[in-house]
Amino acid sequence: MQISFWGATGTVTGSKYLLEFQNKKILIDCGLFQGERTLRERNWAPLPISPTAIDAVILTHAHLDHSGYLPLLVKQGFKGPIYATPGTQQLCRILLPDSGHIQEEDAFFANKHGFSRHHPALPLYTLEDAEKVIPQFVSIPYDEVKELAPGCHFRLIRSAHILGSSFVHMQTEGRSILFSGDLGRQQDPIMQTPALPIAADYLVLESTYGDRLHPATSPEDQLAEVINTTAARGGTVVIPAFAVGRTQSILYYISQLQQKRRIPQLPIYLDSPMAESVTDIYAQYLHERCLDQKTCIHLKNICTYVTSVEDSQRLDQSPYPAVIISASGMATGGRVLHHLKAFAGGERNTILFAGYQARETLGERLISGAKEVKIHGQTVKVRAEVKTISNLSAHADAGETLSWLRHFKKIPQTTFITHGEPGPAEALKQKITQELGWHSVVPQYLETVKL
Ligand SMILES: [Zn+2]
Repeated sequence: MQISFWGATGTVTGSKYLLEFQNKKILIDCGLFQGERTLRERNWAPLPISPTAIDAVILTHAHLDHSGYLPLLVKQGFKGPIYATPGTQQLCRILLPDSGHIQEEDAFFANKHGFSRHHPALPLYTLEDAEKVIPQFVSIPYDEVKELAPGCHFRLIRSAHILGSSFVHMQTEGRSILFSGDLGRQQDPIMQTPALPIAADYLVLESTYGDRLHPATSPEDQLAEVINTTAARGGTVVIPAFAVGRTQSILYYISQLQQKRRIPQLPIYLDSPMAESVTDIYAQYLHERCLDQKTCIHLKNICTYVTSVEDSQRLDQSPYPAVIISASGMATGGRVLHHLKAFAGGERNTILFAGYQARETLGERLISGAKEVKIHGQTVKVRAEVKTISNLSAHADAGETLSWLRHFKKIPQTTFITHGEPGPAEALKQKITQELGWHSVVPQYLETVKL
């Protein structure tokens, strides 16, 4: 058996691991690279082997940095099954076409205003390419054993990062490997806790927050503070948020604040054409959530959904205080860019980040205090207050990761630390060595390791 790391090395994006055994080639996750240009360029480079040679894909969850390359894989000839939990499959039905649509919109916008280095700017894939992926999905419920070949099977296990998210536990040739995917939190207002790990000879472990602990602050209090101060000075709060997971958590906290009358009555706009459907899907999966059905349905009713581009643009002209939640979460694309362009210059406004900001994303530049940024090729002065709610993350921090690792009944022979920038990955490696005495390595991009 051997594993190749085609992504999520030195970065939190582009998750793709090729597992080869008994003439089988299985790709675990099929994510897009996001953030800095050198990473994004990898999305355009051919994969080390032809997608036609890959037998199957197994997804840990629906976030685009784990699933967003699928339309290209299929376009380049991949014909095999894509195994995922029913929740992941349902989310991908919405996320992948939306991703194609956003890329078409961004390319159109770049061509119209001529700010791209490429002439013409092309979308990585289109909505139509993304729709072609859907028939290849095969639903695998949590904990069901699925055979891939004689003596080789896998299971998906709840990881509580977002709806449908899972670990992948693969067993073959008498050996086993566990992929953590993105590891959820021990405490989350919406999702249940991650399942305990099952024994494996090898572990591929995420390290997004490998160098830090989430502060013990209350996201509800922080959100109240930001909304109240901004509304008091007549400003608008723009929250770039992933449509899946973070948006539902933010809606939950806002609904709590409204019920307790801790924030003034002001319009809450959810400007993501797919966010309504995603929140509907959350309402369907009772067993994965800890929210009751009534609260879950209520989340849908606290905000105004913005669907058309015209309505979205109208938000930017309104002089009244409001809260605008819009994707993408790292401000790497999508409608939030238009809102940032409109509101970043006003000192009354607040830009509030709710999750991890990968290196060289617009989100990272803003939280690092940039006084001006480039959006759609235009220089935008930043006078708005920029804040982060750090404890809203859907990723375990270093402490939560270590306490999850302590549940392993048998120490994995090797732990591969991935899905982290170099600092966090190295920090987690050191903690694993010092506190657990385990052998771990941080693999390099395109490295292949014999198991
Ligand atoms: Zn994720």
